[in-house]
Amino acid sequence: MESGKIGAVRKNNPQAKPQPTAARLRCAIYTRKSTEEGLEQEFNSLDAQREAAEAFIKSQRREGWIALPEFYDDGGFTGANMDRPALTRLLQSVEAGELDCVVVYKVDRLSRSLLDFTRMLSVFEKHNVSFVAVTQQFNTSTSLGRLTLNILLSFAQFERELIGERTRDKMSAARRKGKWVGGCPVLGYDVDPGGGRLVINEEEAERVRAIFALFEEHRSAMLTVAEIKRRGWRLKSWTRKTGQFRSGGPFASNSLRRLLTNILYTGAVRHKGQSYPGEHAAIISPDTWARVQNLITHPTAFARGRSRNKHLALLSGLLYCDTCATRMVYSYSGKNDRKYPYYLCLNAQRNGWAVCPGKSLPARGIEQSVLARIRQAQCRFFDVSEWEQIDRTRQVEAVQAIVERIGYDGAARQISIRFRPAAMEQAEQESLA
Ligand SMILES: [Zn+2]
Repeated sequence: MESGKIGAVRKNNPQAKPQPTAARLRCAIYTRKSTEEGLEQEFNSLDAQREAAEAFIKSQRREGWIALPEFYDDGGFTGANMDRPALTRLLQSVEAGELDCVVVYKVDRLSRSLLDFTRMLSVFEKHNVSFVAVTQQFNTSTSLGRLTLNILLSFAQFERELIGERTRDKMSAARRKGKWVGGCPVLGYDVDPGGGRLVINEEEAERVRAIFALFEEHRSAMLTVAEIKRRGWRLKSWTRKTGQFRSGGPFASNSLRRLLTNILYTGAVRHKGQSYPGEHAAIISPDTWARVQNLITHPTAFARGRSRNKHLALLSGLLYCDTCATRMVYSYSGKNDRKYPYYLCLNAQRNGWAVCPGKSLPARGIEQSVLARIRQAQCRFFDVSEWEQIDRTRQVEAVQAIVERIGYDGAARQISIRFRPAAMEQAEQESLA
């Protein structure tokens, strides 16, 4: 092959192993288009790039060039790195000796990074593979050719950085206008299939509201997370642009805080510390938002450690007033040694004592009878002396793990306990073993 004639980089290496198709030059066409590149690009479709490359190869037919049928197309990938599926395949083919020449439309299709490019060229060289850009002809076996390549690549890198800056400017402007600028959507919203917009996912939005309400009720991240786990709720699951499904993980204190402080839920977007009215609908009312933001700042809300244990109520979230069909919440009067903890019907608290025959229950009495009922139902539950040895957090966890709901009938002064089916099955299996 005459060097320099068509810009191919082909080393005539006499030591190279003889190839069965020595007369032919097997050409693989690589095409790439990134999503950030504008439509003003002269040749932006993968088809157009391939067509141009095929035409070029055809024009070299007399030299023995043939286009391989395989497609190495990376649609929607940046040239800034080498993390591209078709490129990976191409390099594998090069290493497997399946081709003799890589043809691209322009140098920057293969890479916009000088460093990556140099690395790839050395792989090509090692396997005696040449490289051709049909619109930019140069020959890397000469120093002028290498200089040309360096200049081309520097421009490609400069161009990429410019695109990056423009993209960031556009995103800033979009955020100030309240637009969604992409990323992983949060619980409660989906990305509109039409793109660029958040739409409410009703089922998830209901959960988000319930989580805000739970936090308002418990005023403790730990108890709220425990209740979220009990209900089996998880973080947002979503499908990436690439079609890859990501299942939502379990809630923890940090993810709860992120959810409770995410201004998106009020229908706004935040940009550089400023909030702007968003294009999407709100899930949380301004009142609820303000109340919860206020609660979060309370030192005990997200506190860790033992200091919080004195407020841990054993039956928190489990106890209901059956007459009013509302929850009974933990409270206490007095302080320090003279503290009288009790559970209070929420209906009675809000609408006056007269509405409810149950009103309130001393905490110790109801807790003792619930524990006795648990011991009756589950022989493996802590006995009285064991119970007193374990700390309050574990006591709360133990009860919450077994009991699903406790109903209190204030008129008959009776309680009914519903156990978790899973906990009971486990207990049965253990007693059989
Ligand atoms: Zn009541």
